[in-house]
Amino acid sequence: MPASQPAPSRQPGQIAEASRQLAAMGRHLLARGLLSQTSGNMSIRISDDVICITPSSMPYDEIGPADIVVVDRSGHPVRGTRKPSSETPLHCLAYRSRPDVSAIVHTHSPMATTLAILGTPIPAVHYMIAVTGVTTVPVAEYATYGTEQLARNVRAAFGAPARAVLLANHGLVTAGPTLADAAFVAEAVETLAGFYYRAIVAGAPNILSPEQMAEVMAKYQDKEPAAAAIGAPARPRGRTTP
Ligand code: 13P
Ligand code: ZN
Repeated sequence: MPASQPAPSRQPGQIAEASRQLAAMGRHLLARGLLSQTSGNMSIRISDDVICITPSSMPYDEIGPADIVVVDRSGHPVRGTRKPSSETPLHCLAYRSRPDVSAIVHTHSPMATTLAILGTPIPAVHYMIAVTGVTTVPVAEYATYGTEQLARNVRAAFGAPARAVLLANHGLVTAGPTLADAAFVAEAVETLAGFYYRAIVAGAPNILSPEQMAEVMAKYQDKEPAAAAIGAPARPRGRTTP
């Protein structure tokens, strides 16, 4: 779903709603163990030049809607009193290269990050990988957090239709048409990473074949969206629990 250009008069309401969603989602993902302390960040794109993003270095249980920062497509703050996330370059470049996504979640969730440290892409160990839009979750090359180089590495590894990418020795980035979608994928990848890690440790995992995954992907395309996650706005289609 490409980000449309809403009438400027609608933007204050959209910014307020996005800020509410980001603050609520921070608490939600914190409670679910996907976020901890101040690690990770999230954003919602309202239009090509209006992106709402979480503040840098602020604990998730303290972030309120007023702490959300609005940046332009280049990452320059245009509204808000806080410093925007250090990963603003990554979010902005991802939006510029992915017109199909309007929300991004970045976590250091434990199992996904463990595989990112191993530099191991997640193969089709379970059919639920279909929620990522691809049959292997790739790994973006390592670069220092918060750099343009990391943003470029993520862009290189995170082409459509992938909705998830591991960041080597760092964490996970997921994306979707809504924040609820991106968060849903983040939780699914964390679960998959746990399955895969345990299977590697125990033996030699069986991987679903391209034919088996093609069948799953076809079924997945036909499904209706599952119940919306926390704070989710109405959305047309594209994500469900397969
Ligand atoms: P921020 O608090 O600046 O968003 O940084 C957290 C993080 O995960 C950096 O990669
Ligand atoms: Zn990070």
